[in-house]
Amino acid sequence: MTKVYTFDLKTDEQAFYNITAQVKQAISDSGVKEGICLVYCPHTTAAITINENADEYVAKDVIFAMKKVFPRFPEFRHDEGNSDGHVKCSVLGASETLIVTDGKPILGRWQDVYFAEFDPPRSRNFFVKVIEG
Ligand code: ZN
Repeated sequence: MTKVYTFDLKTDEQAFYNITAQVKQAISDSGVKEGICLVYCPHTTAAITINENADEYVAKDVIFAMKKVFPRFPEFRHDEGNSDGHVKCSVLGASETLIVTDGKPILGRWQDVYFAEFDPPRSRNFFVKVIEG
């Protein structure tokens, strides 16, 4: 049985934070060579997503588009005032699942794993679980 890996993350702006190194570290530490890796975000105004790693403006453009498509509508009724973040969280989702082979995650040449922050600044964490199979 492999353990659940927990990683801490401090965020200071709405942005994608590259967590690929932590995911690879968890896979390596687990000793699993063939299996599945789940990356999970336990927050309601943040998400896990996979996107381009080559041009930093891709992540910035996604954040820009999310702000345009999901602004803080005055009609929102949630008392905390961060419903835009809750909407973005649901759109991107709380987790990503990666295939592990030869002790490494299968990622396309241009892909990395990101923690997406939609309600900064926050002290966040995320979990990684690697399952052999
Ligand atoms: Zn809220």
